[in-house]
Amino acid sequence: SKQIPRAYVAMVPTPGIGHLIPLVELAKRLVHQYNFLVTIFVPTIDDGTGSSIQTIRQVLESLPTSISTIFLPPVSFDDLPDDFLIETRITLTLVRSLSSLRDALKVLAESTRLVALVVDPFGSAAFDVANEVGVPAYVFFTTTAMALSFLFHLPELDVKFSCEYRDMPEPVQLPGCVPVHGRDFADGFQQRKNEAYRFLLSFSKQYLLAAGIMVNSFMELETGPFKALMEGESSFKPPPVYPVGPLIQTGSNNETNNDRSLECLKWLDEQPSESVLFVCFGSGGTLSQEQLNELALGLEMSGQRFLWIAKSPHEEAANATYFSVQSMKDPLDFLPKGFLDRTKGVGLVVPSWAPQAQVLSHGSTGGFLSHCGWNSILESIVHGVPIIAWPLYSEQKMNAVLLTDDLKVSFRVKVNENGLVGREDIANYAKGLIQGEEGKLLRKKMRALKDAAANALSPDGSSTKSLAQLARIWKNPEFETK
Ligand code: UDP
Repeated sequence: SKQIPRAYVAMVPTPGIGHLIPLVELAKRLVHQYNFLVTIFVPTIDDGTGSSIQTIRQVLESLPTSISTIFLPPVSFDDLPDDFLIETRITLTLVRSLSSLRDALKVLAESTRLVALVVDPFGSAAFDVANEVGVPAYVFFTTTAMALSFLFHLPELDVKFSCEYRDMPEPVQLPGCVPVHGRDFADGFQQRKNEAYRFLLSFSKQYLLAAGIMVNSFMELETGPFKALMEGESSFKPPPVYPVGPLIQTGSNNETNNDRSLECLKWLDEQPSESVLFVCFGSGGTLSQEQLNELALGLEMSGQRFLWIAKSPHEEAANATYFSVQSMKDPLDFLPKGFLDRTKGVGLVVPSWAPQAQVLSHGSTGGFLSHCGWNSILESIVHGVPIIAWPLYSEQKMNAVLLTDDLKVSFRVKVNENGLVGREDIANYAKGLIQGEEGKLLRKKMRALKDAAANALSPDGSSTKSLAQLARIWKNPEFETK
């Protein structure tokens, strides 16, 4: 009999390392565990320097041969309105790449057995192209089930409330979710006249047309939101939802492992067990100069060991390095006078980037001061490290609500009347997390989540089963109805 060719999956990541990393991990799993072939089509931005493309290349280096990558021609943005949010730029990068994606996808569909197109949370504009090519489209939702629920409820909220959400006096409680204040909704929800908000509204409608939605979370972590999405009564009927996480960066897949970042692993080797606070605001997070000073002085005041991945300050945006990752200037030049000398031996400051997954898996790491990007949180959960939640942008405030109010594995920083997190508070959080009684409690809860995460991914685990189910459907669509 004729041999059936190996099934092919196409993936499209929109800009942001936080989208690319989990998508690559999903690709690896499909290839290694289910024998798929994967092609990743990467929309790119013409930023004049090529720095964003360089960062992408680093993440895509040393992939297995069953995963190939194709860079789509760079799109340019000379025409964005002044008030654009990153959500708009991310979405438009894909929208402006659609015709080249269509061409590339057609070629793939004609020459292989293409069974699915997978996009990230900002990729639903590609569904039309999938339709044209005749392949089912899936979303890999790289954040929480709770955020997915909020997105699906957005049209409802939009009708029900006329003010900006941050001005709502009462928190909103969605089925299965912990209550969330409007001020903690994702950034894209916060300016209802902004183009970004209109994009999000359109996503929530497009998502209903997906063949399925994979979520990088797991049933035992977000039982309430998942159950509500999968079985709940609501005004909309979501497509099948598959919890497949936590899919996190494993080992070092990046050549960003330069000498300086390897230095931090060596430094960790020399520190006592669970004594170090790891401080990192993700690929994009930046602080103002004033806030940077407070953080430095707070860490110093705490007397705790710390490993701080620092970026140069930025006054207007909290996500200044979202597209480039690296700071343009040397972050160490912006630290308070004498800080590095005074904290020598106790703390280590590394500019821009460190092998975070390895740092979190290191036995000397005892806590994580994090901007609450979802990948960072998952990595912290997998390695059982409790968190000081310092959300900056995107859906990070909502993630902080989940961590602090629902899962109870973190402190959440308070912003004072000057709009800053003060140094005394920072010192208290740091000491409290690494040494305090409450810190012990958070660590214990985090350990339980670590075990739950390992279970979800074990051969019989909930996430393994739901990805296996999907793999079966992709290989043989007839399973779908059974
Ligand atoms: N990351 C890293 N080193 C750094 C900063 C970030 O390896 O110095 C990785 C981190 O481990 C995570 C991803 O980059 O996998 C960041 O994703 P996340 O969702 O946490 O935040 P984002 O950068 O998207 O805001």
